Amino acid sequence: MSIAYLNGSYLPLDQAKISPMDRGFLFGDGIYEVIPSYNGKMVGFGPHIERMKNGLAAIGVQFDWTTKQWADLCQQLIEKNGSGNLGLYLHVTRGTDSKRFHAFPENIPATVFAYSFEIGPEPVADKALAKKYRVAATRDLRWERCHIKSIALLGNVLHFQQGYEQGYDETLLFNADNQLTEASACNAFIVKNGTVITPALDNAKLPGITRHILLDILRRDGSIPVEERDVSMDEVYSADEVWITSSSKDIAAVVQINGTTVGNGEVGDVWLAAQTLYSAGKFNY
Ligand code: PLP
Repeated sequence: MSIAYLNGSYLPLDQAKISPMDRGFLFGDGIYEVIPSYNGKMVGFGPHIERMKNGLAAIGVQFDWTTKQWADLCQQLIEKNGSGNLGLYLHVTRGTDSKRFHAFPENIPATVFAYSFEIGPEPVADKALAKKYRVAATRDLRWERCHIKSIALLGNVLHFQQGYEQGYDETLLFNADNQLTEASACNAFIVKNGTVITPALDNAKLPGITRHILLDILRRDGSIPVEERDVSMDEVYSADEVWITSSSKDIAAVVQINGTTVGNGEVGDVWLAAQTLYSAGKFNY
């Protein structure tokens, strides 16, 4: 049983209880993060915590933990749960009110919950070991605040489920102008003629930490050109490679979209080069 953290105490996960009047439970009124940790080493701790702070500020939750306090919590979770490969889940809601009323309550403390869960081995840059993802693609029907990592994930859940029910691993999303946004729980990239291209950030996409680290590593290395711009679904279907990225997946190669083969249907050479660079550099963030 994982040891969790709830409002100042460490306890077995199944003993962690919150009130049904918590605004996270009633309204999905909160922010979360997931940080991967391999053998006690986290990937992207700094940018993850910065995104958490930005999210809390964006929704007006008064919560002023320092980066050091977050670091101590993550370290405790790692120590208490064995330092294997863990996803560290951090979650802050606006707190528990006495009534169900939409307006922000005053003077109630935020609810802070965290736990860890086991994740698989560190992804490796090896085509033979890479999972080949098959994904659905559908019109993005979520809200216009997708840049906030809100715990209110029903829009994402419904999109994921749509693909899952058809046997797909993920669901790519596109807007009313047929432009790629992201996937239900990942950012998305295409590769065309050796260039790595990903949709530019706006309020229709989560600023993914894996996306951020990957772009930074590729730009510093300089051997693979990178573009952030609009990407049409026609470009997606005619791409040489398509990737989805997230903290638990690193860079995942997509070989089929809605039954249509991507490129030659294999994990690509640019994926191999990018995952090699990512694996070598990701612990520096
Ligand atoms: N986009 C969405 C909607 C997500 O839920 C996630 C991760 O949960 C991502 C992108 C990837 O973000 P990150 O790389 O920070 O895990």
